[in-house]
Amino acid sequence: MTSDSRDVVVIGGGIHGVGVAQAVAAAGYRILLIEQTALASGASGRSSKLIHVGLRYLETAQLRLVRESLRERAILLTLAPDLVRRVPFHIPVYRDTVRRPWKVGVGLSLYALLGSLAPDTRFSTVPRGAWTGLDGLRTNGLRTVWRYYDAQTDDAALTRAVMRSAVHLGAELACPAEFLSATRVNGGYLVIYREAGAEKERFCHALVNAAGPWIDPVAKRVAPAPPRLAIDLVQGTHIVLPGRLTQGVYYVEAPWDRRAIFVMPWYDRTLVGTTESHYTGDPAFVQPLPDELTYLEKTVRHYFPERDSDIVDGFAGLRVLPQGNTRPFRRTRETILLTEPSGPVHYVAIYGGKLTGYRATGARVMHLVQGVLGAAAPVADTARIPLSAD
Ligand SMILES: Cc1cc2nc3c(=O)[nH]c(=O)nc-3n(C[C@H](O)[C@H](O)[C@H](O)COP(=O)(O)OP(=O)(O)OC[C@H]3O[C@@H](n4cnc5c(N)ncnc54)[C@H](O)[C@@H]3O)c2cc1C
Repeated sequence: MTSDSRDVVVIGGGIHGVGVAQAVAAAGYRILLIEQTALASGASGRSSKLIHVGLRYLETAQLRLVRESLRERAILLTLAPDLVRRVPFHIPVYRDTVRRPWKVGVGLSLYALLGSLAPDTRFSTVPRGAWTGLDGLRTNGLRTVWRYYDAQTDDAALTRAVMRSAVHLGAELACPAEFLSATRVNGGYLVIYREAGAEKERFCHALVNAAGPWIDPVAKRVAPAPPRLAIDLVQGTHIVLPGRLTQGVYYVEAPWDRRAIFVMPWYDRTLVGTTESHYTGDPAFVQPLPDELTYLEKTVRHYFPERDSDIVDGFAGLRVLPQGNTRPFRRTRETILLTEPSGPVHYVAIYGGKLTGYRATGARVMHLVQGVLGAAAPVADTARIPLSAD
C-alpha cells in the first residue's frame, strides 16, 4: 500500500468531478480525482448534449437556474468555441399543441429579460413561407414556429477537455481506479482506492462525492456515514437516427403525453430524446427500454413523417433527482450540495445538477471546502481558461 496526501480527493470523473478538479487546482490546491471506468462514462456522456438555459425551467419557476445557465452558456461559448456551439432552436406550435403560441412567446420574453435582452436571447417566428425548409417538419395543422438560440456540445469531449485543463493546472487523475473506502481521521479522511490491481492510500483534508448515480454506493463506503439525501434515479433515453438536420434543433411536444422532446443534429445523424423512467438497478447496467425506443421513434415520425426513423443507436443515462411523488419533469434540476451538518466542511456530496452549470458548481464546492484547506495562491481563473476539443 502506498500513501501520500492531497488537499482534496474527488470521486467520479463526470462533468461535476472534473469541474471540481479544475476549480480546486486553479485555486492552487493539490487534488486527486478517482474514476472507476473512463471520464464521462456515466451520465456525463449520455446527456442531451445541450449547454442550455432550459426554457422549460421557466415553467417550473427555477429562475436562479435559468440565470446561472445564461451566464455559464455565455462563458463557455467564449472559452470553448470548438466544443460549445450556438444553434437555432425551433418550437413548432400546432392546432393541438398544449403550450399555445402566446405562452411560448411569454416564456421566450421572460428568457430574454432574464438575459438582459442580450443578442443571444433574441427570438422571432419563422415566416410561413420558410416552413418547408425546416428539415421536413410536418406543416399540416402548424400555427407558429418560434425560433430562439441555445447551445450544443459534445458532453464527453467537454468532460475530457475540463480534466485536461485541471491536469495542466496540476491535478492528478487516477483512471481507471476504484474508490474503496474513506475513513474520517484527524483533519480529514484516509482514502483507499484500487488502481492497476494495487490498493493505494491517500490522506485528504476534503472529500468530494461526485459519483452521480453512484452517489449512494459511494457514500456507504465513507465512515462515519455522511448525511444523504433521499433520491430517485430517473432514466432518460436517446435514440440516434440516420440523416442530418440542417436547420438546428426542434423542441416538440410528444403527442402521447405532452412531454417536451428534442430532435437535434448530432454530427451526421439525428439525436432524439428524452424519456423519464424510474430506475432501481445498478447504474452500470442502465439500458434503453423497448417502450422508450417506440415512444421516441413514434414522436419523430409524427413530426417528421418523411424522415427515415430506423433507429441506428440508442443510449440511456440516469438523472439524480430528490425523491418525490411529483412527475420527474416538475422536480428541481438545481445542483444540491450536501455537507456535514455543522463544523468545518470536510465532505461534500454533489446531487443532481446540469452539465451546463458544472463550472459554477466547481466554484461552489471549492468555496465550501476552502476553510479546511489553509491558504494558497490561486494560479488561474476558470472563467478565463480556454478549453479545446481532443
Ligand atoms: C438523459 C439525460 C439528459 C441530460 N441532458 C442534459 C443536457 O442536455 N444539458 C445539461 O446541462 N444537463 C443534462 N443532463 C444532466 C447532466 O448530464 C448531469 O447532471 C451530469 O452529467 C451529472 O454529472 P456527474 O459528474 O454528477 O455524474 P456522472 O457523469 O454520472 O459521473 C459520475 C462518475 O463517478 C464514477 N464512479 C462511480 N462510483 C465510483 C467509484 N466507486 N470509484 C470511482 N469512480 C466512481 C462513475 O464511473 C462516473 O463516471 C442530463 C442528464 C440525463 C440523465
